[in-house]
Amino acid sequence: MHELAPYAVSEDVSRGRAINEAPPSGRSEFQRDRDRIIHSKAFRRLEYKTQVFVNHEGDLFRTRLTHSLEVAQIGRSVARNLGLNEDLVEAITLAHDLGHTPFGHAGQDALHKCMKNFGGFEHNLQSLRVVDVLEERYAAFDGLNLCFETREGILKHASKKNAGLLGEVGERFIMNRRPSLEAQLANFADEIAYNNHDVDDGLRSGLISLEQLQDVTIFSRHLDQVQTSYPDLKNRRLVYETVRCMINTLATDLTVQSQKNIAEAKLTGLADVYLAPPLIGFSDSIKKEQHQLKKFLYDHLYMHSRVVRMSSKASHIIKRLFDAFSVNARLLPEKYQYKFKYEGYQAIADYIAGMTDRYAIREYQRLFAISQD
Ligand code: MG
Repeated sequence: MHELAPYAVSEDVSRGRAINEAPPSGRSEFQRDRDRIIHSKAFRRLEYKTQVFVNHEGDLFRTRLTHSLEVAQIGRSVARNLGLNEDLVEAITLAHDLGHTPFGHAGQDALHKCMKNFGGFEHNLQSLRVVDVLEERYAAFDGLNLCFETREGILKHASKKNAGLLGEVGERFIMNRRPSLEAQLANFADEIAYNNHDVDDGLRSGLISLEQLQDVTIFSRHLDQVQTSYPDLKNRRLVYETVRCMINTLATDLTVQSQKNIAEAKLTGLADVYLAPPLIGFSDSIKKEQHQLKKFLYDHLYMHSRVVRMSSKASHIIKRLFDAFSVNARLLPEKYQYKFKYEGYQAIADYIAGMTDRYAIREYQRLFAISQD
């Protein structure tokens, strides 16, 4: 492994696992976390969960699984350049979306509305719930029994009220402390990945065009660069090359600016990271450009009528499923009926959040379709 900076999380200072285990042999503690995440059921389900486009809309669009892999790849590169713990960043990034509902943000918003009177639903908290309790794989414990630092990285945000219920991993929200630099980096890797792949998928789908993107500074300046170097390049390859250059610019800017912030903060060790302001970040000019790109994607892709129609169907499916199960818990699979007795509506939320897009659609049909045969 590359050498860790003094402000990185090292295994020696880890706050460890909730349940003590013998140290792993042949791999680090955070590599063991990563391996447990990859072997989890929730991780395999990411393949059939929507990022922006629903799985059946096309084979080449990003899913939550390929998104998570792209986030991990970007996160690891930057971590290495900053002397941060690459294994920890990999574990956090691979796990960051495990709690996502089917149908992306539309699914999450719909489930949150359904759960409004029962504590709400937040995919970020749900990711932690997946690794802490919902996975049932190991003989000795529920969940994956991950290291504190991996769990801390998964929990990006929490209200003070929720934080109070989360034990030591919630403490920093109450004390207003920052998470590790590895956790901060995972967030930015997420942002770099989705902004870029949404441009790529948006163009592939035909919902946005190269002409429209001319007004987006970060895209147009990279497109110009590519066209100057390769005047004959066209179509998909032109898009790929432009997106490739954008990712490179963003990852480099993130590295350089974060290095500057870290140097200015004069960190002496990891303890300083928790008290300092956020140190991982883009330069001001890139921040502005990213903001413009995000706004463009929101207006033209996420709010495109075709995406909104799909989102509206998704909300309908989630709401109908939730209503049906809450009116008659006997419609739930047996395991969840049992859980419902003890955990109430949270059990319904766990069942629905765990569904893939196609499972949710099938479950909807099983409950509501009048059979033709
Ligand atoms: Mg993500």
